[in-house]
Amino acid sequence: MAKVLKFGGTSMANADSIRKVCDIIRADKAARIIVVSAPGKRESKDIKVTDLLYECYRTRREKGEARECFSKIVERFKEIISGLGLDFNIKPYLDQIYYDLEGGAGIDYMASRGEYLSALVAAAYLGYEFVDAKEIIKFDSNGMFNAELTNELCAAELLRQGGRGVVVPGFYGQTLDGRIKTFSRGGSDVTGAILARAVNATVYENWTDVDGFMTCDPRIVKNPSVIKMLTYRELRELSYMGANVLHPESIFPVRAADIPIRIKNTFNPQAEGTEIVSTVGFFKGEYTREDNTITGIAGKKNFLAIYLEKQMMNNECGFARKVLSVLEDYKVNLEHMPSGIDTMTVIFEAIDDNTINHIMEDIRITCSPDRMELVRNLSLIAVVGHGMSRKIGTAMRVCRSLFNAGVNIRMIDQGSSEYNIIIAVEDEDYEKAISALYGEFSEQR
Ligand code: ASP
Repeated sequence: MAKVLKFGGTSMANADSIRKVCDIIRADKAARIIVVSAPGKRESKDIKVTDLLYECYRTRREKGEARECFSKIVERFKEIISGLGLDFNIKPYLDQIYYDLEGGAGIDYMASRGEYLSALVAAAYLGYEFVDAKEIIKFDSNGMFNAELTNELCAAELLRQGGRGVVVPGFYGQTLDGRIKTFSRGGSDVTGAILARAVNATVYENWTDVDGFMTCDPRIVKNPSVIKMLTYRELRELSYMGANVLHPESIFPVRAADIPIRIKNTFNPQAEGTEIVSTVGFFKGEYTREDNTITGIAGKKNFLAIYLEKQMMNNECGFARKVLSVLEDYKVNLEHMPSGIDTMTVIFEAIDDNTINHIMEDIRITCSPDRMELVRNLSLIAVVGHGMSRKIGTAMRVCRSLFNAGVNIRMIDQGSSEYNIIIAVEDEDYEKAISALYGEFSEQR
């Protein structure tokens, strides 16, 4: 059985890193299906090839041509090919893309060309076959991903390859009416997951530039430990809350097929990485890990809350529904809804003032609350881990650590499944709160 290995933008950024990628692939006999991103940043101020492509598209629309911008992309690929000492003529491919750009190519087509070129180069260097994602990753004409057809096409393609290695560009596919369509940014992770599912891979290895999923944000806490094992459910909670090693949508295809994901570091392949495993399997005892209370901590700033008070709210049938339908009218996604007897709060990501005013006015008209208050600049922090279930004192430790750090808790929410405590704090307390929580729970390790 095959493995799917996906290499991100930093891994594909220059000739040195691509050499490392190829060493990793060559050292592993099961590494037959390779998905690559477009070349990313070589250093922090560099520009990703995908961003250059978007810029070319915009420049062409505004100024009628984008020769200068496109030359930066040409340079990047020439540098990669000469650095690899590769005998591969990329010119016709680049010329075709520029020709298409001048001819008014669409934005998704342009954005996808970084992956396309990156995969062509990797395939030539590895001696693997290039398989264009547009042939096997399919979307319906309305832009919805077509999993069934994709699965069929991928399986047929693999059969045709008869065990030889293939390189597939990430990030895009094709609609049934022939248009190139991309996933959202970072979508090569999704391509890897879709392929892993389609070929029933033993594992989906996602090679990036960090040692794995960190227990919390390394920009806030210095050198947090790496999580060795995460369940899909924990991963979902942490990535939803901003821990962004993996594209959030990349979880679904592999989870459905119970395929583990392994996060590995191209620049430190010896590091164990993070293994993401089936939640069901974990509870059945198929996997073992250290008995930590908390697996990880993640969070995001800049939420808004509308606090509502109304006498006898608990007796008013449909009050919450009316509030939620106003949010729905304005296409606002509800994040949390802590409530009391006669109070409720709706929390959502920050939006513009004009929309907020309209929402509050509509709530006033439809729900007639006694009091309504807007709270700005809230951060949400998730403390996540199956280990906290049935463990007395976890919420106490959360509260105590924030108390000791002088952080006021604006809201606290723990579902009955007990693998997630969500806390809202003021944005200005966010970093302090994360550090305090990490300090408290890292001692358990
Ligand atoms: N190159 C695309 C991006 O920068 C997709 C990816 O790298 O996964 O978003």
